[in-house]
Amino acid sequence: MSPVTHFLSGWVLANCAKLDRKDRALVTLACVIPDIDGLGIVPELLTRNSTHPLLWFTLYHHSLHNLAFGLVVAALAFAIATRRWTTGLLALLSFHLHLFEDVLGSRGPDGYQWPIPYLAPFSSSLQLTWHGEWSLNAWPNIALTFILLMITFWLAWRRGFSPLEMFSAKANAAFVGALRRRFPRGSEAA
Ligand SMILES: [Zn+2]
Repeated sequence: MSPVTHFLSGWVLANCAKLDRKDRALVTLACVIPDIDGLGIVPELLTRNSTHPLLWFTLYHHSLHNLAFGLVVAALAFAIATRRWTTGLLALLSFHLHLFEDVLGSRGPDGYQWPIPYLAPFSSSLQLTWHGEWSLNAWPNIALTFILLMITFWLAWRRGFSPLEMFSAKANAAFVGALRRRFPRGSEAA
């Protein structure tokens, strides 16, 4: 699935526990981070027509989609977090949510399924795929992204924080303020 869908999934998951701003960010990022192995798409596209094309996307995409990297991410989250155990475990879950979403719907335009080498780099025996996997741009992904976006808006309206808080407290306050003016809350006591 797209990084936007992963990001919103991580955000909604992070909101399932009572975490502070930093811990929410850690759990959210854990759902996006496996895709840094896809950044090779940039040099690959740029050098596509050159005499020495760099196949970094083809070679490395999904190379960080594995349990070992998930444990590293969870350990980092544990080390940085305020609520260590909750955040560390949620980060591990968030990372796996990314893998699960990729198995569900990340089929490439060429039909390639991008199997997930779950035990890499120690073993390549386990390659996760699902025969029903839909394409990256198929409607279930669009529907899921839309639903996650609605939940994100609702959480912001209700609780007063949105993913914008990761970038700027001011932007978050402005966004929440606008939502609450547009949809006034019945009881301000809650
Ligand atoms: Zn992925």
